[in-house]
Amino acid sequence: MIKTPVYMDYHATTPVDKRVIDAMMPFFTEHFGNAASLQHRFGWIAKEAVEIARKKIAKAINAQPREIIFTSGATESNNLAIKGVAHSLRSKGNHIITTQVEHKCILESCKALEADGFRVTVLPVDKNGKVDVDDVKNAFTDSTILLSVMFANNEIGTVQPINEIGKVCAKKGIVFHTDATQAVGRIPIDVEAMNIHLLSFTSHKMYGPKGVGALYVRSKNPRIALEAQMDGAGHEHGLRSGTLNVTGIVGFGTAVQIAMEEMDEENIRLFWLRNRLQEKLMRIDQTTLNGLSVERLPNNLNITFHNINSDQLMTEMNDIAVSAGSACTSEEIGDVQYSHVLHAIGLNGEAGRSTIRFGLGRFTTEEEVDYVADRINNVISKLRTFSAVGVL
Ligand SMILES: *Cc1c(COP(=O)(O)O)cnc(C)c1O
Repeated sequence: MIKTPVYMDYHATTPVDKRVIDAMMPFFTEHFGNAASLQHRFGWIAKEAVEIARKKIAKAINAQPREIIFTSGATESNNLAIKGVAHSLRSKGNHIITTQVEHKCILESCKALEADGFRVTVLPVDKNGKVDVDDVKNAFTDSTILLSVMFANNEIGTVQPINEIGKVCAKKGIVFHTDATQAVGRIPIDVEAMNIHLLSFTSHKMYGPKGVGALYVRSKNPRIALEAQMDGAGHEHGLRSGTLNVTGIVGFGTAVQIAMEEMDEENIRLFWLRNRLQEKLMRIDQTTLNGLSVERLPNNLNITFHNINSDQLMTEMNDIAVSAGSACTSEEIGDVQYSHVLHAIGLNGEAGRSTIRFGLGRFTTEEEVDYVADRINNVISKLRTFSAVGVL
């Protein structure tokens, strides 16, 4: 028997791995020190644990430990990256480029800067959610200071041409930030080879605790200067004041290490499970796959079930936890409410409101995949039959 509700919303968050909890436990109790209290053993132990985690996290993206700044999560990292660069390079230029499919925290940070005198270009994407590198090049002006393009999309799983974009930015001397929240631990990342200057990610999307994240800030070739967004005692090279979340950081470090060690094997498993789910669901009438079939996150599936309202579908199957295209990230676009990402890839309101995102993860099983496929198949047949006979 399968345990319900079945969780298939791993892009929203993930459960904490037991091995991560084990690593964290001593730092709640006997090793409770403040990592900035360097006059006694409690502080030294906390500080040492933080530095070990920092090393693991840096290694995962081929960065130096001193280039990792701990934050409260990807939202804060993204705010610090975007606003931090804008404020520090204000005298050089006022133009920022991003894309239509970014997470809200990027788009809203840009909006806030716009109100502060910056100019923002929001690049369109193709029907699969991909940015065109030529569009990036054409958007550059003499006053461009920053480009922010996410690594992999949290709704449709599309992976962006980060390598090419990195090259273009390096050539033009423009700061390149990427929100890699969905990519770290799933796609190999090398900030050196990829010419990345700033990179955001978060622990709770990779089986670590909530409330802790990181921002990679390049220290040389070129050194990226940021203006802190938090005033205080000057922790994290003055970039992020506030007592470090030692327990969370220890968990984050362990979570990253496990994700890196298991990535290759886990990707093969997820890819197989996702394709199994995809094949089963695409057999249902009037379905379309959103995003690319190949260059996408191995754990992501995003499908439109035409003429089915996804909220209604989800109400009919409260034993399955998935996310609707009209979910919390939705915004008012004209008179309809649906995801800005689905809007950007050309879905209209009807299709947007008939879309479901499936996120598979470390604890997803074949039985769960089959259960979800069967349930959706049954519920959709029922809804379509009812609507055909005019009940709905
Ligand atoms: C979840 C997510 C965020 C926000 O991360 P938090 O740590 O919850 O603030 C940002 N960007 C992307 C792409 C995400 O998936």
